Amino acid sequence: MKVEDIKKVLVVGAGTMGHGIAEIAAISGYKVYLSDISQDILNSALERIRWSLSKLRERGQIKESIDTIMSRITTILGLDKTVSDADFSIEASTERIDIKRQVFSKLDELLPSHAILATNTSSLPITKIAEATKRPDKVVGMHFFNPPVLMQLVEVMKGDKTSDETAKITYDLAKRFGKQPIMINKDVPGYVVNRILGQINVASCILVEKKVADYREVDAVARYKLGFPMGVYELIDYTGVDVAYYVSKSREELGIRDDIPICSLIEQKFKNNELGVKTGKGFYTYPGPGKYVKPELPKELADKLNPVLILAGAVNEAARLLREGIASRDDIDLGVRLGLGLPKGIFQYADELGIDSVVKALEDLKALSGYSVFSPDPLLTQMVGENKLGIKTGSGFYTYGKVEEKKLNTLIIRIEPPLAWIILNRPERLNALNPELVSELDKSLDELEGRNDVRVVIITGNGRAFSAGADVSSFITLRPIDVIRLRTLRNVVNKIALYTKPIIAGINGFALGGGLELAMACDIRIASEVAQLGQPEINIGIIPGAGGTQRLPKLVGKGKAKLMIYTGDMVSAEDAYKMGLVDLVAPANRFEEEVRRVALKIAEKSPISLLAAKLAIELGYESNIWIGQTLESTLFGLLFTTKDVEEGVKAFLEKRKPQFKGE
Ligand code: NAD
Repeated sequence: MKVEDIKKVLVVGAGTMGHGIAEIAAISGYKVYLSDISQDILNSALERIRWSLSKLRERGQIKESIDTIMSRITTILGLDKTVSDADFSIEASTERIDIKRQVFSKLDELLPSHAILATNTSSLPITKIAEATKRPDKVVGMHFFNPPVLMQLVEVMKGDKTSDETAKITYDLAKRFGKQPIMINKDVPGYVVNRILGQINVASCILVEKKVADYREVDAVARYKLGFPMGVYELIDYTGVDVAYYVSKSREELGIRDDIPICSLIEQKFKNNELGVKTGKGFYTYPGPGKYVKPELPKELADKLNPVLILAGAVNEAARLLREGIASRDDIDLGVRLGLGLPKGIFQYADELGIDSVVKALEDLKALSGYSVFSPDPLLTQMVGENKLGIKTGSGFYTYGKVEEKKLNTLIIRIEPPLAWIILNRPERLNALNPELVSELDKSLDELEGRNDVRVVIITGNGRAFSAGADVSSFITLRPIDVIRLRTLRNVVNKIALYTKPIIAGINGFALGGGLELAMACDIRIASEVAQLGQPEINIGIIPGAGGTQRLPKLVGKGKAKLMIYTGDMVSAEDAYKMGLVDLVAPANRFEEEVRRVALKIAEKSPISLLAAKLAIELGYESNIWIGQTLESTLFGLLFTTKDVEEGVKAFLEKRKPQFKGE
């Protein structure tokens, strides 16, 4: 059989999933039998389908009339000979192995021998269901997500005896339904996406149980640092604490989580009948039962916990699935994006976080919990051994541009596409800005500006300092006219201010005098929590000379700028953040990772629109609002001539990530 031969589709079970699957099949032009054991449920399923079709029609997502689509669906109470001309059946009955086996044995009896029998089970082994039939080669998992009409992903999974042909036809049918299928080659209960989500939940539970973080901190990191649409506990509240409880219970029975007991936090909530949104209280409190309001989470809560701890277990699981040939890298990542709504695949996250950091986090989680599931997968340890650490070494689960490192006299230039790091490298002098350093910086900026593979530049310092400022030792011999002519630092600072790529100052330690002036010209300042910032020129009888008296008041206001400049006192990173002098503060022990994370996020955007945004902000800020707005609207209009806008809009409509080329 080929997918073209499928004309009639039978859906068994007309509940939450079944009615949606029947709707999709009918929209895609198939004749549909929809079966259930209750006439009331069948009637309500037809109403729900009609309602959903009316919404799709309002949004212009279907062209045919509602009646035409509805006319393709025939409801059937129970199962009888009427369905014996179905070519493909999708079972979405109650999640119980005895019920499913009964249904499958009946289907085997009624349906023609060429028909494929798919199950939408979430957690039961396909192989066990197939045993109830005489055609185990034609039994397959076809896992839709809720609501099937809106969710793009379908996981196709083979049981032990499922033939390649059956899997392929099922995959093709999912495509004909307008879905994005992924292929799972072995029967692993839970498929791919829920197994990975399960590991995110396990790690999140341990972090709270062992008091590494509280549940709001876990959620804040998930939302703000990892870009999840919902925090981990927020999602549990949303889908129901009872659901999480029963899923864990059934997983225990299926041996998915060998040594992992049910999460005590979930068990506690379950026993207190605090089931989440549905009861009005779970981990968070809602206005009333069934009334969902997004829980408020201050951004600062995301600062303490290392994000890799939430994802390491999931990466480990994904690595195992990949190593054992259960699913491909691209399918796993696609599944995670479409099934969980994450902005990136799990392997993309891993490459960004660094495979070495993932392995270290797994060791930490194992030490905390004692669970062997956190033993790093051989694939991960092998990657660490081969220095395949992800983006920072140019290869991990994916391959990136080659990492190049160039050592100049006073700088290290690290090109790690799409990022370039300029590392001020006179650590013994706290990276003081001598003429050679300034000149090398100037030239390096020019070189990097011309490279298409570099999307974002980061300036940071080696050792304890970002830069402690100008080299004072050279001052003593200077005449006033020499100082005025000493334009070099000023020129570099101005070059940075209007540079055509985003520049981030990664303020790893002291940023004083000229060092702070350099940082202030950058687009974004990220400070390590140990950084100290100041304009101490007044202490030797001078004032800032590379824009400090101009940029500082614009960032922090005149009063605070004067306080800093008049006293020459240093401020901590935290105070600098409160004043608006730095834009983010990151923990010292993962400073580089945090800077990289922010930089990579920016590097994904269109370089042209980033430049347009920068120019509109910088030039608008220095003129009046009328000129600024005119500039903005002109740039706005010009962007519509770019290929990047075309790509951006297209990707948005196709619900995928855009690939901007800067054209
Ligand atoms: P549901 O309870 O809403 O629907 C199940 C339906 O099956 C009910 O209407 C019931 O009357 C009917 N049924 C029971 N025995 C039957 C039989 N012998 N013949 C015909 N119909 C029968 O459940 P649901 O949420 O739609 O889940 C259905 C299946 O889909 C389960 O296997 C579940 O694990 C899976 N699933 C659910 C979700 C989800 O989010 N709800 C997501 C993916 C997969």
